[in-house]
Amino acid sequence: MNNKKALITGISGQETSDSWLKLVNKGYEVHGVIRRNSQMSKGTVELLPEQYRDKITIHFGDVTDAPFIEETVKKIAPDELYHLAAQSFVGYSFKNPSATYDVNIGGTLNVANAVKDHSPNTKLYFAATSELYGQPETTPQNEDTVFRPRSPYAISKLAGYWTVKVYRESYKLFMCNGILFNHESEVRGPEFVTRKIAMKVAAMAKGDDTPLVVGNLDARKDWGYAEDYVYGMWLMLQQKEASDYVLSTGEMHTVRDFINEAFESINKKIDWKGKALNETGIDKENNRIVVKVSPEFYRPLESDNYMGDYSKAKRILGWKPKVLFKDLVKKMVMSDLNTEKF
Ligand code: NDP
Ligand code: GDP
Repeated sequence: MNNKKALITGISGQETSDSWLKLVNKGYEVHGVIRRNSQMSKGTVELLPEQYRDKITIHFGDVTDAPFIEETVKKIAPDELYHLAAQSFVGYSFKNPSATYDVNIGGTLNVANAVKDHSPNTKLYFAATSELYGQPETTPQNEDTVFRPRSPYAISKLAGYWTVKVYRESYKLFMCNGILFNHESEVRGPEFVTRKIAMKVAAMAKGDDTPLVVGNLDARKDWGYAEDYVYGMWLMLQQKEASDYVLSTGEMHTVRDFINEAFESINKKIDWKGKALNETGIDKENNRIVVKVSPEFYRPLESDNYMGDYSKAKRILGWKPKVLFKDLVKKMVMSDLNTEKF
Protein backbone atom coordinates (compact mmCIF):
# COMPACT_ATOMS: atom_id res chain seq x y z
CA MET A 1 0.00 0.00 0.00
CA ASN A 2 1.44 3.38 -0.94
CA ASN A 3 -1.25 5.17 1.11
CA LYS A 4 -2.17 7.36 -1.82
CA LYS A 5 -5.77 8.09 -2.72
CA ALA A 6 -6.98 8.66 -6.28
CA LEU A 7 -10.39 9.99 -7.27
CA ILE A 8 -11.55 9.46 -10.84
CA THR A 9 -14.56 11.17 -12.38
CA GLY A 10 -15.83 9.43 -15.53
CA ILE A 11 -14.61 6.08 -14.22
CA SER A 12 -17.41 4.28 -16.08
CA GLY A 13 -16.04 5.40 -19.49
CA GLN A 14 -13.63 3.76 -21.95
CA GLU A 15 -10.47 4.80 -20.17
CA THR A 16 -11.25 2.69 -17.14
CA SER A 17 -10.99 -0.77 -18.50
CA ASP A 18 -7.73 -2.27 -17.27
CA SER A 19 -5.98 1.09 -16.99
CA TRP A 20 -7.00 1.83 -13.44
CA LEU A 21 -6.14 -1.69 -12.38
CA LYS A 22 -2.61 -0.46 -12.57
CA LEU A 23 -3.42 2.14 -9.92
CA VAL A 24 -5.04 -0.48 -7.74
CA ASN A 25 -1.95 -2.61 -8.28
CA LYS A 26 0.27 0.29 -7.30
CA GLY A 27 -1.50 0.26 -3.95
CA TYR A 28 -3.72 3.30 -4.39
CA GLU A 29 -7.04 3.60 -2.62
CA VAL A 30 -9.20 4.22 -5.70
CA HIS A 31 -12.48 6.16 -5.64
CA GLY A 32 -14.70 6.79 -8.65
CA VAL A 33 -17.64 9.05 -9.42
CA ILE A 34 -20.46 7.53 -11.47
CA ARG A 35 -23.72 9.29 -12.23
CA ARG A 36 -26.85 7.39 -11.38
CA ASN A 37 -28.70 5.61 -14.19
CA SER A 38 -31.90 3.59 -14.11
CA GLN A 39 -30.04 0.25 -14.30
CA MET A 40 -27.44 1.27 -11.70
CA SER A 41 -24.88 0.21 -14.26
CA LYS A 42 -21.24 0.91 -13.48
CA GLY A 43 -20.27 0.87 -17.16
CA THR A 44 -16.73 -0.31 -17.86
CA VAL A 45 -16.05 -0.80 -14.13
CA GLU A 46 -18.23 -3.90 -14.46
CA LEU A 47 -15.74 -5.36 -16.94
CA LEU A 48 -12.92 -5.35 -14.40
CA PRO A 49 -11.97 -8.59 -12.68
CA GLU A 50 -13.84 -8.90 -9.38
CA GLN A 51 -10.77 -8.68 -7.17
CA TYR A 52 -10.00 -5.22 -8.58
CA ARG A 53 -13.58 -4.02 -8.99
CA ASP A 54 -14.27 -4.63 -5.33
CA LYS A 55 -11.34 -2.44 -4.35
CA ILE A 56 -12.81 0.64 -6.08
CA THR A 57 -15.20 2.72 -3.98
CA ILE A 58 -17.97 4.20 -6.12
CA HIS A 59 -19.65 7.50 -5.24
CA PHE A 60 -22.87 7.94 -7.16
CA GLY A 61 -23.31 11.53 -8.27
CA ASP A 62 -23.09 14.04 -11.07
CA VAL A 63 -20.21 16.42 -11.75
CA THR A 64 -22.71 19.20 -12.45
CA ASP A 65 -23.84 18.97 -8.81
CA ALA A 66 -21.50 21.39 -7.03
CA PRO A 67 -22.38 20.40 -3.43
CA PHE A 68 -21.90 16.70 -4.26
CA ILE A 69 -18.49 17.30 -5.85
CA GLU A 70 -17.48 19.59 -3.02
CA GLU A 71 -18.47 17.03 -0.38
CA THR A 72 -16.81 14.15 -2.20
CA VAL A 73 -13.50 15.96 -2.71
CA LYS A 74 -13.56 17.25 0.87
CA LYS A 75 -14.29 13.82 2.33
CA ILE A 76 -11.70 11.90 0.30
CA ALA A 77 -9.05 14.64 -0.01
CA PRO A 78 -7.43 12.63 -2.83
CA ASP A 79 -3.73 12.89 -3.58
CA GLU A 80 -4.60 12.66 -7.27
CA LEU A 81 -7.82 13.56 -9.04
CA TYR A 82 -8.35 12.50 -12.65
CA HIS A 83 -11.22 14.57 -14.02
CA LEU A 84 -12.37 12.57 -17.04
CA ALA A 85 -16.16 12.93 -16.80
CA ALA A 86 -17.50 14.67 -19.87
CA GLN A 87 -19.98 14.64 -22.68
CA SER A 88 -17.23 13.37 -24.94
CA PHE A 89 -18.89 12.94 -28.35
CA VAL A 90 -18.21 15.80 -30.77
CA GLY A 91 -21.17 14.93 -33.04
CA TYR A 92 -23.64 15.00 -30.14
CA SER A 93 -22.27 18.36 -28.98
CA PHE A 94 -23.65 20.03 -32.14
CA LYS A 95 -27.12 18.70 -31.32
CA ASN A 96 -26.96 19.25 -27.56
CA PRO A 97 -24.55 22.13 -26.98
CA SER A 98 -26.20 23.22 -23.78
CA ALA A 99 -25.91 19.82 -22.08
CA THR A 100 -22.31 19.64 -23.32
CA TYR A 101 -21.47 23.03 -21.75
CA ASP A 102 -23.24 22.13 -18.48
CA VAL A 103 -21.16 18.99 -17.97
CA ASN A 104 -17.86 19.99 -19.58
CA ILE A 105 -17.66 23.59 -18.39
CA GLY A 106 -19.86 23.53 -15.26
CA GLY A 107 -18.60 20.13 -14.11
CA THR A 108 -14.96 21.11 -14.59
CA LEU A 109 -15.46 24.36 -12.71
CA ASN A 110 -17.06 22.43 -9.84
CA VAL A 111 -14.10 20.06 -9.68
CA ALA A 112 -11.52 22.87 -9.86
CA ASN A 113 -13.36 24.87 -7.18
CA ALA A 114 -13.65 21.84 -4.91
CA VAL A 115 -9.89 21.31 -5.12
CA LYS A 116 -9.14 25.00 -4.56
CA ASP A 117 -11.48 25.37 -1.60
CA HIS A 118 -11.32 21.99 0.10
CA SER A 119 -8.26 20.02 -0.96
CA PRO A 120 -5.54 22.33 -2.31
CA ASN A 121 -2.87 19.63 -2.06
CA THR A 122 -4.71 17.43 -4.55
CA LYS A 123 -2.98 17.08 -7.92
CA LEU A 124 -5.55 17.49 -10.69
CA TYR A 125 -5.48 16.04 -14.19
CA PHE A 126 -7.92 17.58 -16.68
CA ALA A 127 -8.85 15.75 -19.88
CA ALA A 128 -8.29 18.41 -22.53
CA THR A 129 -8.14 17.37 -26.16
CA SER A 130 -6.63 17.80 -29.61
CA GLU A 131 -10.08 19.08 -30.63
CA LEU A 132 -8.91 22.43 -29.19
CA TYR A 133 -6.87 22.90 -32.39
CA GLY A 134 -9.93 22.82 -34.67
CA GLN A 135 -8.52 22.66 -38.18
CA PRO A 136 -4.80 23.26 -37.56
CA GLU A 137 -2.77 24.86 -40.31
CA THR A 138 0.56 23.65 -38.97
CA THR A 139 1.60 20.02 -38.59
CA PRO A 140 2.49 18.46 -36.22
CA GLN A 141 0.68 20.16 -33.33
CA ASN A 142 2.32 20.72 -29.95
CA GLU A 143 1.58 22.58 -26.70
CA ASP A 144 2.21 25.94 -28.43
CA THR A 145 0.00 25.43 -31.47
CA VAL A 146 -2.86 27.92 -31.68
CA PHE A 147 -6.32 26.75 -30.53
CA ARG A 148 -9.28 27.41 -32.84
CA PRO A 149 -12.13 25.18 -31.62
CA ARG A 150 -14.68 24.09 -34.22
CA SER A 151 -17.41 22.39 -32.18
CA PRO A 152 -19.38 23.03 -28.97
CA TYR A 153 -17.40 20.12 -27.49
CA ALA A 154 -14.08 21.82 -28.29
CA ILE A 155 -15.31 25.18 -26.97
CA SER A 156 -16.35 23.52 -23.70
CA LYS A 157 -12.97 21.81 -23.37
CA LEU A 158 -11.17 25.09 -24.08
CA ALA A 159 -13.02 26.62 -21.11
CA GLY A 160 -11.82 23.70 -18.97
CA TYR A 161 -8.27 24.08 -20.30
CA TRP A 162 -8.16 27.78 -19.35
CA THR A 163 -9.80 27.16 -15.98
CA VAL A 164 -7.00 24.74 -15.14
CA LYS A 165 -4.28 27.10 -16.37
CA VAL A 166 -5.70 30.15 -14.59
CA TYR A 167 -6.31 28.27 -11.32
CA ARG A 168 -2.80 26.81 -11.47
CA GLU A 169 -1.24 30.23 -11.86
CA SER A 170 -3.57 32.22 -9.59
CA TYR A 171 -3.75 29.85 -6.63
CA LYS A 172 -0.50 27.89 -7.07
CA LEU A 173 -2.37 24.62 -7.41
CA PHE A 174 -1.01 21.47 -9.07
CA MET A 175 -3.29 21.22 -12.12
CA CYS A 176 -2.36 19.71 -15.50
CA ASN A 177 -4.01 19.74 -18.91
CA GLY A 178 -3.53 16.62 -20.97
CA ILE A 179 -3.94 17.65 -24.61
CA LEU A 180 -4.71 14.13 -25.70
CA PHE A 181 -5.17 13.13 -29.30
CA ASN A 182 -7.79 10.50 -30.14
CA HIS A 183 -7.30 7.32 -28.17
CA GLU A 184 -9.33 4.21 -28.64
CA SER A 185 -9.70 0.78 -27.13
CA GLU A 186 -11.72 -2.41 -27.16
CA VAL A 187 -14.36 -0.57 -25.06
CA ARG A 188 -14.49 2.69 -27.01
CA GLY A 189 -18.08 3.99 -27.22
CA PRO A 190 -19.83 2.38 -30.23
CA GLU A 191 -20.73 5.69 -31.91
CA PHE A 192 -17.06 6.70 -32.34
CA VAL A 193 -15.87 5.88 -35.83
CA THR A 194 -13.09 3.46 -34.84
CA ARG A 195 -15.31 1.22 -32.72
CA LYS A 196 -18.15 1.52 -35.20
CA ILE A 197 -15.82 0.19 -37.92
CA ALA A 198 -14.35 -2.53 -35.68
CA MET A 199 -17.77 -3.80 -34.61
CA LYS A 200 -19.16 -3.82 -38.13
CA VAL A 201 -16.13 -5.51 -39.70
CA ALA A 202 -16.24 -8.17 -36.97
CA ALA A 203 -19.98 -8.64 -37.60
CA MET A 204 -19.31 -8.99 -41.34
CA ALA A 205 -16.72 -11.67 -40.62
CA LYS A 206 -19.52 -13.51 -38.80
CA GLY A 207 -21.97 -13.22 -41.69
CA ASP A 208 -23.55 -9.74 -41.52
CA ASP A 209 -24.11 -8.76 -45.17
CA THR A 210 -25.19 -5.13 -44.72
CA PRO A 211 -22.65 -2.39 -45.49
CA LEU A 212 -20.82 -0.16 -43.06
CA VAL A 213 -22.20 3.38 -43.44
CA VAL A 214 -19.93 6.26 -42.42
CA GLY A 215 -19.38 9.98 -43.00
CA ASN A 216 -16.20 11.79 -44.02
CA LEU A 217 -13.72 9.15 -45.23
CA ASP A 218 -11.00 11.76 -45.68
CA ALA A 219 -10.97 12.92 -42.03
CA ARG A 220 -7.39 12.64 -40.75
CA LYS A 221 -6.72 11.84 -37.10
CA ASP A 222 -3.90 10.70 -34.85
CA TRP A 223 -5.25 7.54 -33.21
CA GLY A 224 -3.55 5.91 -30.21
CA TYR A 225 -4.38 3.29 -27.56
CA ALA A 226 -6.21 4.42 -24.40
CA GLU A 227 -4.07 2.40 -22.01
CA ASP A 228 -0.89 4.15 -23.16
CA TYR A 229 -2.57 7.51 -22.66
CA VAL A 230 -3.85 6.71 -19.15
CA TYR A 231 -0.28 5.86 -18.20
CA GLY A 232 0.73 9.28 -19.53
CA MET A 233 -1.92 10.96 -17.37
CA TRP A 234 -0.56 9.20 -14.32
CA LEU A 235 2.99 10.28 -15.19
CA MET A 236 1.86 13.93 -15.40
CA LEU A 237 0.74 13.80 -11.78
CA GLN A 238 4.01 12.22 -10.59
CA GLN A 239 6.08 15.30 -11.56
CA LYS A 240 7.34 17.98 -9.20
CA GLU A 241 5.73 20.74 -11.25
CA ALA A 242 2.39 20.87 -12.99
CA SER A 243 2.36 21.50 -16.74
CA ASP A 244 0.38 20.79 -19.91
CA TYR A 245 1.33 17.94 -22.23
CA VAL A 246 0.41 16.60 -25.65
CA LEU A 247 0.02 12.81 -25.84
CA SER A 248 -0.23 11.42 -29.36
CA THR A 249 1.35 8.87 -31.69
CA GLY A 250 2.79 11.31 -34.25
CA GLU A 251 1.03 9.39 -37.05
CA MET A 252 -1.85 10.67 -39.16
CA HIS A 253 -4.37 8.37 -40.86
CA THR A 254 -7.70 8.82 -42.60
CA VAL A 255 -10.96 7.09 -41.74
CA ARG A 256 -10.50 5.25 -45.06
CA ASP A 257 -7.10 3.98 -43.85
CA PHE A 258 -8.77 2.71 -40.67
CA ILE A 259 -11.38 0.85 -42.72
CA ASN A 260 -8.74 -0.67 -45.04
CA GLU A 261 -6.73 -1.84 -42.04
CA ALA A 262 -9.81 -3.25 -40.28
CA PHE A 263 -10.75 -5.32 -43.33
CA GLU A 264 -7.12 -6.33 -43.71
CA SER A 265 -7.30 -7.90 -40.26
CA ILE A 266 -10.02 -10.27 -41.51
CA ASN A 267 -8.03 -10.85 -44.72
CA LYS A 268 -10.19 -8.73 -47.00
CA LYS A 269 -9.05 -6.10 -49.50
CA ILE A 270 -11.16 -3.11 -50.41
CA ASP A 271 -11.39 -1.27 -53.73
CA TRP A 272 -12.58 2.33 -53.52
CA LYS A 273 -14.79 3.76 -56.26
CA GLY A 274 -16.47 7.16 -56.69
CA LYS A 275 -16.02 10.38 -54.72
CA ALA A 276 -17.40 12.08 -51.59
CA LEU A 277 -21.00 10.99 -50.90
CA ASN A 278 -20.88 8.59 -53.86
CA GLU A 279 -17.75 6.81 -52.74
CA THR A 280 -18.12 3.10 -52.04
CA GLY A 281 -15.82 0.42 -50.69
CA ILE A 282 -16.01 -2.84 -52.60
CA ASP A 283 -14.91 -6.26 -51.38
CA LYS A 284 -12.39 -7.30 -54.06
CA GLU A 285 -13.12 -10.97 -53.56
CA ASN A 286 -16.82 -10.90 -54.50
CA ASN A 287 -17.39 -7.37 -55.85
CA ARG A 288 -19.93 -6.60 -53.10
CA ILE A 289 -20.37 -3.08 -51.68
CA VAL A 290 -19.24 -3.22 -48.06
CA VAL A 291 -18.81 0.52 -47.31
CA LYS A 292 -21.16 3.40 -48.10
CA VAL A 293 -21.16 7.09 -47.23
CA SER A 294 -24.10 9.00 -45.79
CA PRO A 295 -24.47 12.73 -45.02
CA GLU A 296 -26.00 11.64 -41.70
CA PHE A 297 -22.50 11.05 -40.31
CA TYR A 298 -20.90 14.27 -41.52
CA ARG A 299 -20.24 17.05 -38.99
CA PRO A 300 -21.51 20.60 -39.59
CA LEU A 301 -17.82 21.58 -39.27
CA GLU A 302 -14.99 19.07 -39.57
CA SER A 303 -11.91 19.18 -37.37
CA ASP A 304 -9.02 17.11 -38.63
CA ASN A 305 -5.48 17.26 -40.00
CA TYR A 306 -4.34 16.00 -36.62
CA MET A 307 -0.84 14.76 -35.93
CA GLY A 308 0.54 15.35 -32.45
CA ASP A 309 4.10 16.12 -31.48
CA TYR A 310 4.61 14.41 -28.11
CA SER A 311 8.26 15.44 -27.71
CA LYS A 312 7.61 17.39 -24.48
CA ALA A 313 5.98 14.33 -22.88
CA LYS A 314 8.87 12.19 -24.10
CA ARG A 315 11.48 14.58 -22.75
CA ILE A 316 9.94 15.31 -19.35
CA LEU A 317 7.76 12.29 -18.60
CA GLY A 318 9.76 9.68 -20.50
CA TRP A 319 6.48 8.78 -22.23
CA LYS A 320 5.94 7.32 -25.66
CA PRO A 321 3.08 5.34 -27.18
CA LYS A 322 3.53 1.56 -27.29
CA VAL A 323 0.59 0.68 -29.53
CA LEU A 324 0.56 2.27 -32.98
CA PHE A 325 -2.08 2.39 -35.71
CA LYS A 326 -1.89 -1.10 -37.24
CA ASP A 327 -1.84 -2.86 -33.88
CA LEU A 328 -4.60 -0.65 -32.53
CA VAL A 329 -6.94 -1.52 -35.40
CA LYS A 330 -6.14 -5.21 -35.09
CA LYS A 331 -6.70 -5.22 -31.33
CA MET A 332 -10.10 -3.57 -31.74
CA VAL A 333 -11.35 -5.82 -34.53
CA MET A 334 -10.06 -9.00 -32.84
CA SER A 335 -11.75 -8.05 -29.59
CA ASP A 336 -15.09 -7.56 -31.32
CA LEU A 337 -14.57 -10.74 -33.28
CA ASN A 338 -14.14 -12.63 -30.03
CA THR A 339 -17.27 -11.35 -28.34
CA GLU A 340 -20.46 -13.37 -28.46
CA LYS A 341 -22.47 -10.48 -29.82
CA PHE A 342 -23.13 -10.13 -33.52
P1 NDP B 1 -16.23 8.36 -22.34
O1 NDP B 1 -17.34 9.08 -23.03
O2 NDP B 1 -16.06 6.92 -22.62
O3 NDP B 1 -16.40 8.54 -20.77
C1 NDP B 1 -16.90 9.71 -20.21
C2 NDP B 1 -17.32 9.42 -18.80
O4 NDP B 1 -17.87 10.62 -18.20
C3 NDP B 1 -18.39 8.35 -18.68
O5 NDP B 1 -18.08 7.55 -17.57
C4 NDP B 1 -19.64 9.17 -18.41
O6 NDP B 1 -20.64 8.49 -17.71
C5 NDP B 1 -19.06 10.25 -17.52
N1 NDP B 1 -19.96 11.40 -17.40
C6 NDP B 1 -20.54 12.10 -18.39
N2 NDP B 1 -21.31 13.08 -17.87
C7 NDP B 1 -21.21 12.99 -16.52
C8 NDP B 1 -21.75 13.73 -15.45
N3 NDP B 1 -22.57 14.76 -15.68
N4 NDP B 1 -21.44 13.36 -14.18
C9 NDP B 1 -20.62 12.32 -13.95
N5 NDP B 1 -20.06 11.57 -14.94
C10 NDP B 1 -20.35 11.91 -16.21
O7 NDP B 1 -14.89 9.18 -22.65
P2 NDP B 1 -13.38 8.67 -22.67
O8 NDP B 1 -13.17 7.72 -21.54
O9 NDP B 1 -13.01 8.29 -24.05
O10 NDP B 1 -12.62 10.04 -22.39
C11 NDP B 1 -12.37 10.47 -21.06
C12 NDP B 1 -12.14 11.95 -21.09
O11 NDP B 1 -11.08 12.29 -21.98
C13 NDP B 1 -13.34 12.77 -21.54
O12 NDP B 1 -13.35 13.96 -20.80
C14 NDP B 1 -13.04 13.07 -22.99
O13 NDP B 1 -13.71 14.24 -23.43
C15 NDP B 1 -11.54 13.24 -22.93
N6 NDP B 1 -10.82 12.98 -24.16
C16 NDP B 1 -10.99 11.80 -24.80
C17 NDP B 1 -10.30 11.52 -25.94
C18 NDP B 1 -10.46 10.22 -26.63
O14 NDP B 1 -10.03 10.12 -27.79
N7 NDP B 1 -11.02 9.22 -25.99
C19 NDP B 1 -9.35 12.50 -26.53
C20 NDP B 1 -9.17 13.68 -25.72
C21 NDP B 1 -9.91 13.90 -24.59
P3 NDP B 1 -21.86 7.74 -18.48
O15 NDP B 1 -21.33 6.38 -18.77
O16 NDP B 1 -22.95 7.80 -17.49
O17 NDP B 1 -22.13 8.53 -19.73
P1 GDP C 1 -13.78 12.56 -32.57
O1 GDP C 1 -12.47 12.77 -33.25
O2 GDP C 1 -13.68 12.67 -31.09
O3 GDP C 1 -14.87 13.39 -33.15
O4 GDP C 1 -14.10 11.01 -32.80
P2 GDP C 1 -15.09 10.29 -33.82
O5 GDP C 1 -14.68 8.86 -33.84
O6 GDP C 1 -16.50 10.58 -33.52
O7 GDP C 1 -14.74 10.95 -35.23
C1 GDP C 1 -13.45 10.85 -35.81
C2 GDP C 1 -13.51 11.37 -37.24
O8 GDP C 1 -14.21 10.43 -38.04
C3 GDP C 1 -14.25 12.71 -37.40
O9 GDP C 1 -13.46 13.51 -38.22
C4 GDP C 1 -15.56 12.33 -38.08
O10 GDP C 1 -16.08 13.33 -38.94
C5 GDP C 1 -15.11 11.13 -38.89
N1 GDP C 1 -16.19 10.19 -39.25
C6 GDP C 1 -16.43 9.71 -40.48
N2 GDP C 1 -17.47 8.87 -40.44
C7 GDP C 1 -17.90 8.82 -39.16
C8 GDP C 1 -18.94 8.08 -38.53
O11 GDP C 1 -19.69 7.34 -39.13
N3 GDP C 1 -19.07 8.26 -37.17
C9 GDP C 1 -18.24 9.09 -36.48
N4 GDP C 1 -18.40 9.17 -35.16
N5 GDP C 1 -17.26 9.79 -37.07
C10 GDP C 1 -17.08 9.65 -38.40
